[in-house]
Amino acid sequence: MKCLMCENYSLTHICKPCQRNFLTPTQLYKRTLENGTDVYSFYRYSEIKELLHTKHTDLGYYIYKILAQNSLKIFAKEFHFTNKVVSLGVDEHIGANYSHTAILNKALKSNTITPLHAKLLAKNRVNYSGKTKTYRKQHPRDFVVGDFAQEDVIVVDDIVTTGTTLLEATKKLSSANKNVLFCLALCDVSKKN
Ligand SMILES: [Zn+2]
Repeated sequence: MKCLMCENYSLTHICKPCQRNFLTPTQLYKRTLENGTDVYSFYRYSEIKELLHTKHTDLGYYIYKILAQNSLKIFAKEFHFTNKVVSLGVDEHIGANYSHTAILNKALKSNTITPLHAKLLAKNRVNYSGKTKTYRKQHPRDFVVGDFAQEDVIVVDDIVTTGTTLLEATKKLSSANKNVLFCLALCDVSKKN
């Protein structure tokens, strides 16, 4: 097949040189939500914008896996904590054939982190794309937290825009007596540089 980025022949959807050149995070970006929860992200939106668009197609399954391997998987390897931690993907709802947040969540598996699937599902699956912060606040996702024993939690999503979704998810987890350590996202739209 051809590499999606450089169009050279490649065995993977994005060739190894392109993964090295364009998808190796150079820094961790940080944003703090209104409730004090930190969100760490790996890429600038402009760097992976086109790749993120593949989530609506079958190709997205492979692309999200590649993005997760270059960012979240490496982060998880280097992350250590006193307790065992679980990671939850935001709304791991199966769209066409797969859940893109479940792919990201799965990459966090380590000695410290256990990814749990479909434990943070939205009752309201409204499309926030292009909507204002006010609209988003007026139409909450209404998350339901599934049962699990561990207290320490990492929340994972692909993209942070206004932060409304993560704010709502982390508030819900707190009220379920969970301790949200931080959130992880592939990219944060507010990070321009
Ligand atoms: Zn390439």
